[in-house]
Amino acid sequence: MAGPRPESLDLVRRLIAFDTTSRLSNLELIHFAADYLDRLGIRPVLVHDETGKKANLWATIGPEGPGGVVLSGHTDVVPVDGQPWDSDPFQVVERDGRLYGRGTSDMKSFIAVAMAYAAEMKQARLKEPIHFAFSYDEEVGCLGVHGLIDHLKANDIRPRLGVIGEPTEMRVVDAHKGGRSYVTTVTGLEQHSSARHRGVNAIEVAAELIGFLMQVQRDYESRRAPGAERFDPPFSTVQVGTIEGGTASNIVARCCTFRWEQRSLPGADPEEAQHRLSRYVATEVLPRMRHIHAEAEIETVLRGAVPPLVPEAGSPAEILVKSLVGSNATEAVSYATEAGIFQSAGVPVVVCGPGNIREAHKPNEWIELAQIAACEDFMARLIGRLSA
Ligand SMILES: [Zn+2]
Repeated sequence: MAGPRPESLDLVRRLIAFDTTSRLSNLELIHFAADYLDRLGIRPVLVHDETGKKANLWATIGPEGPGGVVLSGHTDVVPVDGQPWDSDPFQVVERDGRLYGRGTSDMKSFIAVAMAYAAEMKQARLKEPIHFAFSYDEEVGCLGVHGLIDHLKANDIRPRLGVIGEPTEMRVVDAHKGGRSYVTTVTGLEQHSSARHRGVNAIEVAAELIGFLMQVQRDYESRRAPGAERFDPPFSTVQVGTIEGGTASNIVARCCTFRWEQRSLPGADPEEAQHRLSRYVATEVLPRMRHIHAEAEIETVLRGAVPPLVPEAGSPAEILVKSLVGSNATEAVSYATEAGIFQSAGVPVVVCGPGNIREAHKPNEWIELAQIAACEDFMARLIGRLSA
C-alpha cells in the first residue's frame, strides 16, 4: 500500500491545528474547508446554528441530481483539559509511523482525506454525486447534524447512501447503540444536621435513585436479547457520569444533581431506565419526601438523544462499502455516531473510517499512517466505482 500522500498529511495537520473543542466555534475550520473546496470549483453550503458561531458544511461534487454518496464527519473534538499530553494536542507530531494530536483518530483524518481527494472527485466523470457533510457538536450529543438533515429535507436532497467516517480501522460497522442523557435534580429541605428528621436530604435521595438505576443496570446484564452478542458489552447500559450537591457536613443537603445516560441496543426501549425511574420516584420516593416537605421535588430532564444504528442486511451502503474495503463482514460497536440520525432520515448508512476508537478521547490520541493510506485507498476506489 502506497501513501499517505503529502496532501492528505498536510490537511490532517491543518485541521488538527484548529482547536474545535465542542465548546468553541468551529467556524475557522469550516471557512478553511469551504475556501479549499471553493478553489477547486466546488460550492459548499454552510448551515449555521442559531448563534452563528458554528456551522455544518454541505458540498456536492459531480452531477446535480438525485442520489449520491454522503461522506460524513464531525469537525468538533473532545476537550484536552486535565489530560497529560506529551506534546501540544493541536500540533500534529509524527513518530514511529503514527500521527499524534487531538482528533487524529476521532475524526479529522477522515475529513482531511476526503478533502484531499476532492480535486480528483471533481475531475472524475462521476455518474452520481459525492456529498461532503461536515458537522459540529457531535461530541456533545450529535446536535449539529440535525440542521444539516433539515437542509437536505428542505432542498429535497435524497442521497442514495452514506458513510460515517468514525474510526473503525476501515472495517464496516452496520450497528451501534443509541443513547439518551439526562440530568436529575433532587430538591429537599435544609436543616441543621442534628435535626435531620425535620429535613429532606437531597444527596441521600439522589443516592437512592442512583442505587435504583444500578438495579436497572443489573437487570440489563441478566437479559440476553437476540443479536446482542455482537456488542461489547452485549446489553444496554446505564451509567452515572457526574454528581454534585450539598454545602457542608453539618447541613442537611437541600440540592443534589446528577447526570446519567442510558445506552440501548438497537430495538430496545431507549426510555426504559427513565420510565422505571419516574415510576419509582412517583410511587415511593416523592411521597416520602413530601410527607416532610410539601415542596420537595425530583425532576429529570432529557439533555440529548441519539438513535441507534439498526442493522439493515443488504443495504446499498453495506454492499458498496464492503466491496470498497474488500470485506464481507460487518461489525457492531457500542459507541453512538451520527449514523442513526442519517438512517432515521431515510439515508442507508454504515460507519467506516480510519483510526481506532480506543485512541479517541484520550491523551496522546494517535492514528497510524497506514490507516490514513487505507482511507486514501477507499476514496480512490469510491471515485473509480462512481465514475463513468
Ligand atoms: Zn467521533
